[in-house]
Amino acid sequence: MNGCRVLVLGGTAEAFALAVRLHADPNVVAISSLAGRLARPRLPPGEVRIGGFGGADGLAAYLREERIDATIDATHPFAATISRNAVRACARADIPLLVLERPRWEEVAGDRWERVPDMASAVHAARALGPRIFLTIGRTELAAFAGVDDRWFLVRAIEPPAGPLPPQHELLLARGPFTVAAEIATMRAHAIDAIVAKDSGGAATAAKLVAARALGLPVVIVDRPFRSGAASVNDLDAALAWLRAASVRFRT
Ligand code: NAP
Repeated sequence: MNGCRVLVLGGTAEAFALAVRLHADPNVVAISSLAGRLARPRLPPGEVRIGGFGGADGLAAYLREERIDATIDATHPFAATISRNAVRACARADIPLLVLERPRWEEVAGDRWERVPDMASAVHAARALGPRIFLTIGRTELAAFAGVDDRWFLVRAIEPPAGPLPPQHELLLARGPFTVAAEIATMRAHAIDAIVAKDSGGAATAAKLVAARALGLPVVIVDRPFRSGAASVNDLDAALAWLRAASVRFRT
């Protein structure tokens, strides 16, 4: 992989871990890209660039200008636009692309899950489950719940949401990972009746699901959107193996 320049589309714990591994390899120059949504992002080691590229065309131009050899899309499973743009841009720039994506969460015995296709359906499902609802969906799609005035919401986000919120709510600013014990304590302290979560997958934020199971609480799980159909792997070692194989191709 001598001198190989890799763009990591990031904003996730997986992208951070990938950047750590790539940075430790003297034969790789890893450039992590963050969207710039957070005022205080956790910066991975190595080069970091922040902000949008200006669509697929802008990303394709960036790939050429920066002489990127390969792209690994390690963005969040709900970040569908950047993933689609990456497919188009990498095709145009003729460079290999891999998606590093957390596995989906799977229901186990004792879970009371209701899977829904989108946030609008989640609003409908959650309203039927009780008066006090815990929203653990991040901060960008909270507006879907803004019109619900007959339920109380515990809204958890890393930074304050910019958009409208439901009239009856408490905002809990916190960055995971959380322990199961802490999640149980949060749910008990706020007398939560139901939880709404995206099917983000991975271990870092799964404690809320274990806590809900322990307390017998229902969870509305919002399914992932279709992203890109690009080749994908679920773990870091597989991504590194792909990069090694790809580097043989683009160096010949
Ligand atoms: P999105 O809807 O797929 O992307 C919207 C636009 O944001 C893209 O078109 C692109 O702008 C820019 N963008 C997104 N990710 C970028 C990146 N890594 N580097 C540079 N530009 C990026 O994305 P999103 O759902 O808003 O997520 C934004 C970021 O937050 C992603 O990095 C994602 O990994 C992270 N994140 C998202 C969620 C979630 O639930 N959606 C949760 C946790 C973390 P241009 O078109 O101008 O290039």
